[in-house]
Amino acid sequence: MSIEKRYNSVKSRVTNAAVKLLAVSKKQPINKIRQLYQLGHCTFGESYVQEAVEKIKILSDLAIQWHFIGPIQSNKTKYLVQYFDWVQSVSSLKILTRLNNQRDPSRGKLNVLLQLKVGNEVSKKGFDAAQLVAICQKQQEFQNIRIRGLMSIPKPSDVYKVQLKQFSQCKDVFEKMKTYVAVDTLSIGMSSDLEAAIESGSTMVRVGTGIFGKRE
Ligand SMILES: *Cc1c(COP(=O)(O)O)cnc(C)c1O
Repeated sequence: MSIEKRYNSVKSRVTNAAVKLLAVSKKQPINKIRQLYQLGHCTFGESYVQEAVEKIKILSDLAIQWHFIGPIQSNKTKYLVQYFDWVQSVSSLKILTRLNNQRDPSRGKLNVLLQLKVGNEVSKKGFDAAQLVAICQKQQEFQNIRIRGLMSIPKPSDVYKVQLKQFSQCKDVFEKMKTYVAVDTLSIGMSSDLEAAIESGSTMVRVGTGIFGKRE
């Protein structure tokens, strides 16, 4: 199937016009990114720092808004502040502090989503609800960061009700954040569960294979 067909099919599943679509281009070739850009899409997400930086340099002729959505090692934060507009996967205070200290103020504030851990998976990255809200309470300490909301990757499930339950936990925490910060972005939902995410109040879905086909 062509990228255009896949793209239109994903767009038709995003039934709420207020929901933004992030095209996840990790492990996808440059020519496919250009193809999608030519169809009018300009927000892309990447998960691996080195791969992302190479692509961003090559594609610097395009007006793409780049979102980082992958795991973050502290020695890589200097690249994130330099090349990205958004970092969605901030899951520790240490990383948040480094991003804040390393962002060049002349580039404007870095847009950040705090990653929420849902369920009891010990290994999963992210803050619990209380930690996440505590950071919002002291957001003014991070002068070069704009906290825009939260991102979450709940455990995949084929059961719609289970998807809804997990996403509604995200929505609850997102509402709590609003007490302290003017947040506007709830990044939940991927290729296989975006309908449940949208029903739960998602404002941004992140779709890779649904648009580009299988990764390399
Ligand atoms: C890879 C990835 C996606 C996209 O996954 P698909 O199954 O290809 O739609 C979304 N969010 C995150 C955080 C990812 O790492």
